[in-house]
Amino acid sequence: MSAITNHLPTAQLQALDAAHHMHPFSSGADISANGARVIISADGVTLTDSEGEKILDAMAGLWCVNIGYGRRELADVAARQMLQLPYYNTFFKTTHVPAIALAKRLADLVPGPLNHVFFAGSGSEANDTNIRLVRHYWAAKDKPEKKIIISRHNAYHGSTIGGASLGGMSGMHAQGGLPIPDISYIDEPNWYADGGDSSPDDFGLERARQLEAKIAELGEDKIAAFIAEPVQGAGGVIIPPATYWPEIQRICDAHDILLIVDEVICGFGRTGNWFGSETYGIRPDIMTIAKGLSSGYAPIGGSMVSDEIADTVANVGDFNHGYTYSGHPVASAVALENLRIIEEENIVQTVRDETGPYLAQKWKQLGDHPLVGEADIVGMMGALALSPDKSARAPFAADKGTIGLICRDFCFANNLVMRHVGDRMIISPPLVISKGDIDVLIERVVKSLDQTYEKIKADGLFK
Ligand SMILES: *Cc1c(COP(=O)(O)O)cnc(C)c1O
Repeated sequence: MSAITNHLPTAQLQALDAAHHMHPFSSGADISANGARVIISADGVTLTDSEGEKILDAMAGLWCVNIGYGRRELADVAARQMLQLPYYNTFFKTTHVPAIALAKRLADLVPGPLNHVFFAGSGSEANDTNIRLVRHYWAAKDKPEKKIIISRHNAYHGSTIGGASLGGMSGMHAQGGLPIPDISYIDEPNWYADGGDSSPDDFGLERARQLEAKIAELGEDKIAAFIAEPVQGAGGVIIPPATYWPEIQRICDAHDILLIVDEVICGFGRTGNWFGSETYGIRPDIMTIAKGLSSGYAPIGGSMVSDEIADTVANVGDFNHGYTYSGHPVASAVALENLRIIEEENIVQTVRDETGPYLAQKWKQLGDHPLVGEADIVGMMGALALSPDKSARAPFAADKGTIGLICRDFCFANNLVMRHVGDRMIISPPLVISKGDIDVLIERVVKSLDQTYEKIKADGLFK
């Protein structure tokens, strides 16, 4: 039984797709010329395309399908909820059981005083909420001039105008007149690329102290918050040195600025704990959640908010903000069921104690490949920095991303979804990936690296 009837061959689907469907983060001309791969179904960690090829999805969709594909429980709960109450809003003093139950579950699950949730339909929307909320909070404290949010170059916080402004992606800022005013940026803690001769620990401190310097430059009384991902995901899985987060926490505490931790990728088990904040010992005032919250089965995101912030804004009238789908009943029910599965099947513990260490051991060995400068991994997110010269951690002479794209195309041809960010190859597989599938993943990575290495040597690009 098929969800949507399709009698069309692949070429025709691709032609219709190119004619009418504008793809995110893609060139229309490229899609028209080459056609998109049509994904028909999925189960566990495996996608099936319109030609019947089985593809290992080492990205869990877009970092989101934490419990893997094909879980009937989520479909069943969605169907039951659609029949009982498919939609109602949470504006104007109404509520419903799925939103209440999910809010309570999240308050229990998220560490620290983050006992309140403002629901959104996505991570981008949640970060838009955060911009308005932190400014509203400081205004409620009679400090309306505390408006600036400090972020980081190469951060990813979504694609709405607010989210993309918070993010530090230059390619995004270059289109559409971004960023909005009152967002400022410091450098990312990317030791591999920028650390030079300093030790990772020294470099982590140095990059964290850029925050303190930025606060001094702009004035503490002008700054609302600092926002960061525990591990930069879309920026290329940049795992910070161990010294970085404790110093950031110290600086935020010392200067009375709020700490927004964007857990859209790191949340719900990705780093081997429920939240990246636990892995790195961070105490956020606000936490952005989405993606793994529903394992991608339904669109939902949110902002987890501290007692202090929620109580403060509760007493200054309406917060004039909200989305039609804030706390959507079907999405909330699906998220709750997803959280139940993660907990009851011990998925986080398995990542931390079994499959994570198993993957890490094999992943680190890839650092010996002649094309790999560094292999880094935490939990179920890993990166390979490709390099023509390991010891110097040197970039390629070719334009950034040239070699990464070649490698990505070999991966795709080998039925492995592994992404490239510049010349970093990254993975973020479903958390339920088995040791057997990890072996297959590594085999296909090695094959793709070998093919890339041979090709770029032959083409004179290994330099
Ligand atoms: C994906 C992502 C977002 C944006 O989430 P959407 O649901 O795509 O809007 C925000 N922050 C981080 C860290 C992300 O990875």
